[in-house]
Amino acid sequence: MSGGNPRMAQRGATGGEWAGGGGLAGGAGSAGDSVEALLEQTGAHRRGHFRLTTGLHSDEFFLLAQAFQYPQVLEAIGAALAEALKNVLPAGMPVGAVAGPAVGGILLAHAVARCLPARSLFAEKDPGGGMAFKRGFRLEPGEPVVVVEDAVTTGGSVRKTMEAVTAAGGRVVAVGAVVDRSGGAVDFGVPFAALLARSVAAYPPGDCPLCRQGVPLQDLKRG
Ligand SMILES: [Zn+2]
Repeated sequence: MSGGNPRMAQRGATGGEWAGGGGLAGGAGSAGDSVEALLEQTGAHRRGHFRLTTGLHSDEFFLLAQAFQYPQVLEAIGAALAEALKNVLPAGMPVGAVAGPAVGGILLAHAVARCLPARSLFAEKDPGGGMAFKRGFRLEPGEPVVVVEDAVTTGGSVRKTMEAVTAAGGRVVAVGAVVDRSGGAVDFGVPFAALLARSVAAYPPGDCPLCRQGVPLQDLKRG
């Protein structure tokens, strides 16, 4: 990838300020709208005509690392997700830790944990195909844990992280995501909070409206 982010640079050059990020942290306006704007501004939400890694074509995709590369944007999104999680958790419930699957959930877990407040952990792939806590991370028996992920489609990484929490003796009390791409299909068995709900619109290459319109196709590089 070439360096920099032309859109961000352009904003700075034209005197654009982080009104969305500041307003979001202060709870001004609709949190969902503000997060959506942040994702658009940072290139984390892209529209066009894309070949997904599955081979299907789509008119949009999310690459949340693009948003998280800006610390103030990460902070705003973490604060918004922490608030959304507080709304689905029983009032006053303490949270010991926020856990995310590596790599996408590491920074997000940290940003959410800062606002709850709680510790921040991450789970990593283990040789058995699941995920586990390494690096000396420990949970107290029955410790309440929130699991967060940047974008949820099937929920596979979230479930593996939930299993890691249980295996470490903790108790998952809620799940949070920046983007829910499941179309409401995921059920983790605990309260779930997402800042944006955007179903995946994916078409087989032979039956794609964007192909029929002649929109140039872009390949997605694996992150
Ligand atoms: Zn197409």
